[in-house]
Amino acid sequence: MSFSLYVHIPYCDSKCPYCDFNSHAARRWPEQRYVAALRRELAVAADGSHWGGMVRTIFFGGGTPSLFDPASIAGVLEEVRRHWQLAPTVEITLEANPGTVDEGRLRGFAAAGINRLSFGVQSFQPKILTLLGRIHDGPTAIRAVGDGQRAGFDNINVDLMFAVPGQSVEAWRADLRQAIDLGTAHVSAYNLTFEEGTAFHAMRRRGEFEPLGEDVEIAMYEATEDALTTAGFLRYEISNYALPGRACQHNLSYWRALPYLGIGAGAHSFSAASMRRWSNQLGPEAYMHAVEASGGAAVGQEILTARQLQGEFVFLGLRCCEGIEVSEFSDRFGVDFAVAFPHYRDLRKAGLLEQRGANWRLTERGRMVSNEVFATFV
Ligand code: SF4
Repeated sequence: MSFSLYVHIPYCDSKCPYCDFNSHAARRWPEQRYVAALRRELAVAADGSHWGGMVRTIFFGGGTPSLFDPASIAGVLEEVRRHWQLAPTVEITLEANPGTVDEGRLRGFAAAGINRLSFGVQSFQPKILTLLGRIHDGPTAIRAVGDGQRAGFDNINVDLMFAVPGQSVEAWRADLRQAIDLGTAHVSAYNLTFEEGTAFHAMRRRGEFEPLGEDVEIAMYEATEDALTTAGFLRYEISNYALPGRACQHNLSYWRALPYLGIGAGAHSFSAASMRRWSNQLGPEAYMHAVEASGGAAVGQEILTARQLQGEFVFLGLRCCEGIEVSEFSDRFGVDFAVAFPHYRDLRKAGLLEQRGANWRLTERGRMVSNEVFATFV
């Protein structure tokens, strides 16, 4: 069976105060050693029994993968090609921080095999970017997207963030308009969350933030839908919008509960065939050390029950606007959706779930309380 590949690059120029990803601020990083560990991990994974078939999608995430030299990214992709065939339609994404790239560098990534860029822009407004601790300003983000286009990329995502303290609905609309005007193919619009362990979480606890009211957040949520769909984008997941044919295939494979191999520090893997999920050593040093010593860095393996797999298929699939196909559920699990989760009728009666053709999906009201609905399938 084909699979997706995630490659984690854990280094960043500085740590953003809202970020709870496995990312580490560094002035220098052991790039050659880290790439060697990634290549070794790939070779060992290819030798095992979990990962046969073609690679459907590849995603370099982080951290800030664009800090790495294009030759390093090319080396990882060379190792992938050495062991597996890439699907003819393979999507290969690189996450990029606008403050770390120029046209020449982006041309290098294109030559390495990258065919999709995902820019962590967050905002074009100076006040918001300063608050978020980003290293770029608005003009730099605009230039970076243009550089990507001039370097030949026609599949570019821009990440934007709303519900930031002090942000007005009008400022959020301006960010959306700017992203649309840049001619990007995809926009991910996330609301700011205050995750435990981040600087923002501590600041909120100390009362240093006045969080936006729920009504303002809802107005921003509606503004997102309005601005992007008017511009021809299709909403295909709670936070993701794409021009036709430009939905992110890598993220869709997560939401469809398809298998993925994760390599690099802290990366997660999921093998549907062996009903297992596992993750790598979190710290970059511990990760490299483990791979150098044994060829792998897996820790924390979880064996999943059939019931867990069924629940995950449903709540991940419901994140997508088209929802879940009940025939795919019965094909995968040998049981009817209605038998496995009879409470779907209560969700329908409550106006949270609806049937569209062969699919069940969240209603607009269901999306507003999506976490509560997902919890009923866990
Ligand atoms: S650049 Fe991205 S990964 Fe790095 S600290 Fe900021 S939000 Fe986190």
